[in-house]
This record gives sequence, structure tokens and C-alpha cells, in this order.
Amino acid sequence: MPVDAVALGARPVVGSYPRESVHCHAGAPRGNVLDPVPHDVHARTRIEGALVDMDGTLYRGDVPIPGAREAIDTLRDAGVAVQFLTNNATKSPAEYVRKLAGMGIDATPDEVVTAGVVTADYLAREYPDDRAYVFGEPSLREVLTDRGVTVTEDPMRTDVVVLSLDTGLDYDRFTRLLRAITPRTPIIATNPDRTKPGTDGIVPSAGLVIGAVEGMTGREPDTVAGKPSVVAGRFALDRLGVDASDCLLVGDRLDTDVQMGIAVGATTVLVRTGVTDAATLDGSEIEPDYVLDSIAEIGTVLGSDGDG
Ligand SMILES: [Mg+2]
Repeated sequence: MPVDAVALGARPVVGSYPRESVHCHAGAPRGNVLDPVPHDVHARTRIEGALVDMDGTLYRGDVPIPGAREAIDTLRDAGVAVQFLTNNATKSPAEYVRKLAGMGIDATPDEVVTAGVVTADYLAREYPDDRAYVFGEPSLREVLTDRGVTVTEDPMRTDVVVLSLDTGLDYDRFTRLLRAITPRTPIIATNPDRTKPGTDGIVPSAGLVIGAVEGMTGREPDTVAGKPSVVAGRFALDRLGVDASDCLLVGDRLDTDVQMGIAVGATTVLVRTGVTDAATLDGSEIEPDYVLDSIAEIGTVLGSDGDG
């Protein structure tokens, strides 16, 4: 996919359901086999930063992936600054700090990039004087107001609309949302995920709301902030203060994590501990620089166990 298509949100809804998770081209040959090191990416650069996806990369649900804590230690010991990424906009960075701490991974709120945080930063920069009508969880409103975004509850007096998963959604909420959207109202979605893993199976994600708005108005979001959008990637890179060429992207999804990493110019690492199976990888046009069985092997990418 062209970078511009991601940047402009031209395909704002990217499938997150495992069976349709990537743009498959069955039978297409893979250009390079990626294990352990296809080309000397790290020989030409020094890795100074890492954007690390969380769910499917560091843990599955509430279960840590073996070696994840040690992998983060390996990165930090090598002087690599880390940002932890998630497309979930229903929890705050502080909640993720607590979750990581429970797994022995030390992090600060400023090291956690949720789709809500990215959306808040985007609104504060692009719509600094505008009132935002938010369809989403209370914690998203908090993240937005913490960043200085003016949130309104009045759909008739709004300048920009934010779409996210709202687990309290009902007919009345959708009615107010419909009235907030004029043909010219900018629509910003926190993340494009259709679904996400729940404790007892998949559950709807922000795609439920994006699809409802398209059904009601015929409009897609003008911008999607979360992965694979470069809005998220650039935000995380800015925080690190590291050039993309000196940065790793580590994640378990091709169509969000790796796609975003490629779009911003990072060195991409796919881990096999999440949603991407061998058949999906073989059939995908999105090609990571490295494929690891687990983030536990991250040292091989840094060269500490390899030729570097
Ligand atoms: Mg993931």
C-alpha cells in the first residue's frame, strides 16, 4: 500500500480479525526469507530506539510471553529507548504501566503510546481551538482533556468528531453522534480495528462505530490516528527523539505494526507470538525485515548474539 494511502486514511478500516487480517495474495512469491537476518540492516545503523507493540508481543491477554521482560531489559541495556504501543483507546497509559509492572516490566506513562494518546496529540496540534464531540469511553475523554482538547457534550455545538469504541453505546448515543456530524465535520477515529481479543473470544472494536457512521452518513474517517497510520508512528518517534532509520518496530501484526513501521522507515521485526501464522506471512505483500519466534530473541536483531 502506498504510504500516502495510510497517511491520508484512505483505507481507514483495516481488518483486525485474524482470518482476514492481511491483504493476502495467495501464491505470490515471497521476496526474502527472514530468519535469522536477511540483510545487514543493523550493520549500517545503530539501533537507538524501539517501538514495541504490547498485545501479542509482550503478552497475550493477561499472560506474559516468556522472555518478554528479559527482552526489554536487553533493549534497555543496549541503550535502546523504548515506547510501548497499543491501538486500544479505552485504557489510559497509567493502566498499561500497572499491567506491565505486574509482568516485571518497568515503564513510565510517557513510554506508553495508546491510540487515545495519539488522537489527543493530533487534535491538540491540528484542531487547537475546536470543540470535539467524543464517541468513546470516559477514559478517552480524560486523555483528551489532559492534553488540552476541549470536549463538548453538545452534538449541535461541535467542530470535530472523535470516533472510538464505546462499550456503553446505544441508540440514543448513536442519535447524538449522527447529529454531531455535518457533511463538513472532520471525523477522527482513534483506531481502525474491527475487533479485538476478549477474555472469552473476539469482541467488537472501534470498527463497530466507524462502520455505523459510514452506514448512517456514508462518510469514512478523515484521519485514523492509531496503527498503521503514520500519525501514530511519527508521534512515537518524536517522543523517542530517534530517527526512524535508527529505530526498530517490533510487533505481531503485518497490517498494523509492520505496515506502520515500513511507512515511517523503521526496521521492522515481526514476532510469531501473536496473530500472524506462517500461512499469513507467506501470503502477505507486507514484508518485515526480520521474523522472530518471539521477542525473547530480540538480541539477534541488535547483533549481540549475531555478527554485530
Ligand atoms: Mg499486537
